Amino acid sequence: MDGELIIKDLRVAIDDKEILKGVNLTVRKGEVHAIMGPNGSGKSTLAYALMGHPKYRVTSGDIVLNGQSILELGPEQRARLGLFLAFQYPTAVPGVSLGNFMRLAVNSVRTGHEGNGGKKPLSVSEFQKLMREKMEILKMDRSFASRYVNDGFSGGEKKRAEILQMALLEPQIAILDETDSGLDIDALRIVSEGVNRLAGPDVGIMVITHYQRILNYIKPQFVHVLAQGQLIRSGGPELALALEEKGYDWLLKEAGLLKS
Ligand code: ADP
Ligand code: MG
Repeated sequence: MDGELIIKDLRVAIDDKEILKGVNLTVRKGEVHAIMGPNGSGKSTLAYALMGHPKYRVTSGDIVLNGQSILELGPEQRARLGLFLAFQYPTAVPGVSLGNFMRLAVNSVRTGHEGNGGKKPLSVSEFQKLMREKMEILKMDRSFASRYVNDGFSGGEKKRAEILQMALLEPQIAILDETDSGLDIDALRIVSEGVNRLAGPDVGIMVITHYQRILNYIKPQFVHVLAQGQLIRSGGPELALALEEKGYDWLLKEAGLLKS
């Protein structure tokens, strides 16, 4: 099926240590899923494994995008098929504007793109038009695009760049890993507003977060709890509310993962 990511009994190891111990999850376009869980439960490992980071070794199971296993594909090929993971910022690219950087990124994904209906690379003026549209949707100041990449970006500005890139790439499935440190309330709000504006029938979104408070801003239809490398509970928004109220311990106990 188009716009469908199926994670099948996925086991992932870092070096020789097994981190993910059989994760099953399906994300379809039009859906917003939240993956939550205590620190160290394997949330980022899941994100990296989905994107094909070589350090995160899939030892068994499968990752299927639009009916095709992507296990043998590299990160770029996965991106071309419509998978998005917030990109790793280049250490510093002084002299290169965010706009130019994004155009390269967008065109490298569009070139040879089969997943999103064979889009062609964009000319400079086409790209600028697209970027203006997206920045309007996201209510971003236009001057942001002329800033140099990663040149003194605050946490919030990095998040803005990430959301803008997602908007420009128009992925089928977007995975946003809200890494645990350094995400202040401002950055959280930027991510949440961006996700809410970009969510819709054509994209499936997986928001990975440690923080319950992000769910004050994003309303996922599906909430999953990852603990010790396993999804121990899935539910609807009511699960997020229960987590907000009671934390994670009761779930860990019920799953037999916490000695009381
Ligand atoms: P989360 O994102 O849920 O906090 P992680 O996926 O980052 O969890 O980490 C899960 C486990 O994998 C932790 O025990 C962590 O120490 C280990 N781990 C994560 N990344 C690495 C790495 N690059 N090298 C070695 N161990 C790692
Ligand atoms: Mg993490």
